Amino acid sequence: MISPLNPLDITIDDISHLSDGSVSIAVLRLDKIHLQVSGNKWFKLRYYLEEAKALNKKNIVTFGGAWSNHLLATAAAAQLYGMGSTGIIRGEESPELSFTLAEAKKLGMKLIFISREAYKEKQVPPGIVTTDDYLVPEGGYGKPGAKGAATILDHCPDDFTHYCCAVGTGTMMAGLINQTDRDKKVVGVSVLKNYPGLEDMIEDLVPDKGPDQRGKWQLISNNHFGGYAKYSPELLAFMNDFYQQTAIPSDFVYTGKLFFAVTRLLRENFFPKGSKILIIHSGGLQGNISLRKGLLIF
Ligand SMILES: *Cc1c(COP(=O)(O)O)cnc(C)c1O
Repeated sequence: MISPLNPLDITIDDISHLSDGSVSIAVLRLDKIHLQVSGNKWFKLRYYLEEAKALNKKNIVTFGGAWSNHLLATAAAAQLYGMGSTGIIRGEESPELSFTLAEAKKLGMKLIFISREAYKEKQVPPGIVTTDDYLVPEGGYGKPGAKGAATILDHCPDDFTHYCCAVGTGTMMAGLINQTDRDKKVVGVSVLKNYPGLEDMIEDLVPDKGPDQRGKWQLISNNHFGGYAKYSPELLAFMNDFYQQTAIPSDFVYTGKLFFAVTRLLRENFFPKGSKILIIHSGGLQGNISLRKGLLIF
């Protein structure tokens, strides 16, 4: 299988010094694997790309906003597979492309801007998708995405008790739920506000719906800082402080909120004594470029 990964780049950093000594904490550094196909995105895309290749498709079409990690990763991964890519972008084209879209374009992605209303309905303008195209759902959400995300766990030992991750579409979290034993806990930190359908979206990607399976995962939904891609001075101060204490950079859309929430849960003694916690650093650092310079120290 084609892969942009060098498994040697993926480290597991111990940050147990942040706890009071009653638990251990480690971070799986998927942010270090690739500049453009960072974090969880390659994992979520891999089986879509395999299928597209097997079906002899020539081009990958997918959706995202101007700062979408998913779009950039898709552009890079499609190129790696020798395919073209098309991004359907939410909102009108602005005079200057975002860093993310400019990078995606450099990787050969064709950019098509549609109105926010049309985007909501995922209305692809006529003539864009032909029989040569393979459509990947927004954010890579779907069973192949979850199956790919499950392979994240190939890169760490299996003796953790808790797996913590950021949640957008829930595809990564579903993969972790499917791939871990029943005595493990999977804790997802939602970065969206008011997203009542999220639990069902995750459930739909978890084939084994036994009662103890449902008991092993939990969504934390009160650390979204106002909603998707919203942030406050408190969040940025936390991210700077976290970097000073761990040398681990985070992004303000996903992993900053994840580390913030896990730190709060630690203070609230959410994790039983003796827990071995793994936090998945799902990457996304390129999105910080959208912030004013100087707000972050890394
Ligand atoms: C896309 C993304 C997520 C969310 O993954 P889902 O599978 O959609 O829940 C989390 N973290 C980062 C950095 C991402 O880019």
